[in-house]
Amino acid sequence: MTEKYIYSFQKGDGKNKMLLGGKGANLCEMTQIGLNVPPGFVITTTACLDYINNQRLPDGLMDEVKAHITEVETQTEKQFGGRDNPLLVSVRSGSAISMPGMMDTILNLGLNKQTLAGLIDQTGDPRFAYDAYRRFIQLFGKVALGIDDEKFDQHFDAIKKQAGIKADVGLDSEHLRQISELFLQVVHEETGKPFPEDVYEQLELSIKAVFNSWMGKRAVDYRREFHITPKMANGTAVNVVTMVFGNMGNDCATGVGFTRNPGTGANEMYGEYLVNAQGEDVVAGIRTPKPVHELANEMPDLYRQLVELRNKLETHYKEVQDYEYTIERGILYCLQTRNGKMNAAAMVRTSVEMVAEGLIDKKRALLRINPELLEQLLHPQLDPNSTAEAVAQGLPASPGAACGKCVFEADTAEQLGRAGEAVILLREETKPEDIHGFFAAQGILTSRGGKTSHAAVVARGMGKACVAGAEDIKIDVRSRQAIIGELHIREGDMITIDGSTGLIFLGRIPTIEPSFSDELKTLLSWADEVAELEVHANVDTPERARLAASYGATGIGLCRTERMFNASDRLPLVIDMILAGNKEARQEALAKLFPIQRDDFQELFEAMSPYPVTVRLLDPPMHEFLPGEHQLEDEIRALNQYKIMIQGQQVTLDTLGSHALLPSPFNHLNEEVINKAIAKKELMLSKVKELYEVNPMLGHRGVRLGMSYPEIYQMQIRSILEAAALCIKQRKPILPEIMVPQVITVQELIKVKSYVDQIQKEVEKQYGIDLEFKFGTMVETVRACTRAAKLADVAEFFSFGTNDLTQATFSFSREDAENKFLPLYNESGLLADNPFEVLDAKGVGQLMKMTVESGRQTRPDIKVGICGEQGGHPESIRFCHHIKLDYVSCSAPRIPIARLAAAHAKLLENEYNIEY
Ligand code: PEP
Ligand code: MG
Repeated sequence: MTEKYIYSFQKGDGKNKMLLGGKGANLCEMTQIGLNVPPGFVITTTACLDYINNQRLPDGLMDEVKAHITEVETQTEKQFGGRDNPLLVSVRSGSAISMPGMMDTILNLGLNKQTLAGLIDQTGDPRFAYDAYRRFIQLFGKVALGIDDEKFDQHFDAIKKQAGIKADVGLDSEHLRQISELFLQVVHEETGKPFPEDVYEQLELSIKAVFNSWMGKRAVDYRREFHITPKMANGTAVNVVTMVFGNMGNDCATGVGFTRNPGTGANEMYGEYLVNAQGEDVVAGIRTPKPVHELANEMPDLYRQLVELRNKLETHYKEVQDYEYTIERGILYCLQTRNGKMNAAAMVRTSVEMVAEGLIDKKRALLRINPELLEQLLHPQLDPNSTAEAVAQGLPASPGAACGKCVFEADTAEQLGRAGEAVILLREETKPEDIHGFFAAQGILTSRGGKTSHAAVVARGMGKACVAGAEDIKIDVRSRQAIIGELHIREGDMITIDGSTGLIFLGRIPTIEPSFSDELKTLLSWADEVAELEVHANVDTPERARLAASYGATGIGLCRTERMFNASDRLPLVIDMILAGNKEARQEALAKLFPIQRDDFQELFEAMSPYPVTVRLLDPPMHEFLPGEHQLEDEIRALNQYKIMIQGQQVTLDTLGSHALLPSPFNHLNEEVINKAIAKKELMLSKVKELYEVNPMLGHRGVRLGMSYPEIYQMQIRSILEAAALCIKQRKPILPEIMVPQVITVQELIKVKSYVDQIQKEVEKQYGIDLEFKFGTMVETVRACTRAAKLADVAEFFSFGTNDLTQATFSFSREDAENKFLPLYNESGLLADNPFEVLDAKGVGQLMKMTVESGRQTRPDIKVGICGEQGGHPESIRFCHHIKLDYVSCSAPRIPIARLAAAHAKLLENEYNIEY
């Protein structure tokens, strides 16, 4: 028996989104729970894949289609291709994962000369019938026959112009008839064939076109950007649905709604509608729709039905729904529903409120939020104290503030975005083909369309700021200007938009870091109850530590001490230490650094009290603290020139002109000062040359420095332990940890530990206290992984440095890989992900697993974490949970993401599997 490729809405399994696509599955489910859905059927994604693989429709598919059309004919008492009561259908795409606007849809299919005449007779409304006809010819021409939209638009605009009509609604039936005729001619000219009159031919071509759109550039780009793999969605289904019309008169309407407010999450009716219009008018933003509350006055009974529909949808799906409906001659039909895409704040609020309402449990509340989404909550908001006056206002379509240079085309946005510029994309309205501009832009501004327009929906999904329907702005793409009354904003001018209020400002307006909402705190506290992994922070300063603590970090997993060295008041001391010709001189410089480091650590420990703070001893090669060779040579040359200039004359800063290379401040310029400066620069240059390494990342760094210059590590250890002693004296509960980088052998650890033991004794004696702290190592070399059992003899904790470990395992550096060949590897599928972002579970992960197991054999309670970049990435966090790490450590803004991801990792642990 041949496979079943088609399911009617009464029969399809509403849970099987992989087979029926999200839209199809929901149409089945809505039909089966008794909602008023126009009759129809779903052609499966399997049929799509067969079609794509064989480049023809599966055998027997069209026979199955005919049988289902007959069923629909019976249900609706209409005939497909029949004159008297013609059945018209829409043909819509829909894959397992919603990809708004990415694939194609055809409406009013089934119209031809005969059914058109029938429709005119039946409705007595030729204007309506011709309007449906011209829309069908254009959509079918574009989607199924590949004709450029513009070919149709030219004629449409010409007729409008001839008739002196501005809005489409002003066109009468004769205009629309003429337009239809012209459109038929366009099709004939462009394809060399007349427009197909056979309705089954129309249907077959449309089904193929929708299948083809799965592999169209737009859809492929979208899947790549959002990491939609074939496991998540494979092929599109085709939904063939009886047309219902929202544009048959003033007792008709069409609208879209969310069961809760997708901007704020508030539990209220939300949406927009248009009387006497087709659905695409709302979504495309061609006419600006009315807020749904106005329907309560305009059609009170239907409003009541709509409230009922909304309640039923939410109670059934237990999730916020994004739905579309049409009212045809006083009857409400639900055309589509899907889980609503909302911004992070709304997701969090609805999660917490739906638990309070008893609609969902805490587990569902956590799992329904993609951890990555939380990053939005840490987006900057406009500084409320800013006094800047807005120059225009539109609808607040996607919250958050964004500043950037104005661009008027998606391509320009992409070009400038690639060059690292922040841009705001300004359009009259956006279309799916603008999607690459969205990716590149910081924010989107449109002059037309509502809160459910394409621009708004897509921007919200991406978490980008969007202001829509700013009608006071005239956008002129040709001259690349946005005109607001007298004001002309040109391409490249800086503007700021606030997607939370809809306000638009000239120039760059200051922004502030957002604070945590109470709902987010509640949600993350539920996450912490579930999660087994702790979340620590990679921070180096007390301010960042306080921020991390406010985001819920329960420790510092990595404090990179070199970042403290780089601060402007310390760098000269560090340089003196590096330039020191012998141990004594080095110790003298270190003695100056010591109190500064000790105070830093004390402040850091206090900021994170009572949680652990892991301080890593110096890691980078020394020459990283010195200027580059060329810079030094240039500076020496410049100094020598000044010397010549000033010999015999008084020089002030003003007379130096544009010698920008002069190191500042040099306000007492005389030969002696300059000679000293030259001598120092020359010393630095010779040191830079001496320290030169062929491959610095694999050179004299990490613990190797501690072996060559023990006094550096000793100074750092003493700073840490004295800072701890000072905290203890003040009764601050603290947990310091000393971590050694780049270790390859236990001998290195034994050596550093001997410094620690000695200094510990001295500090304990000096302060009259007992110190409690941990001593451990980074695991970031392959050898450390293989020697883990031995390292654990000395180390009380391991922290995976997966930046270096990935580099070492792959034998390529992040910078070279990302700039040169990694995109190719990712695009061609040689590597699924960038291993510097997503932990390579199959390779690096295996080393980690082995390390954890052998480390724990030696020391069962050894604490193990990760502090490489991947530690803040949800999929990597799942792996870390899987191999039973104790904590992950990541940058401050990723802490909320990591907390939620750690809860997901636990809740979904039974479903986790890696295919090795
Ligand atoms: C690492 O290698 O993963 C690490 C955290 O150290 P760094 O990035 O400082 O080399
Ligand atoms: Mg490292």
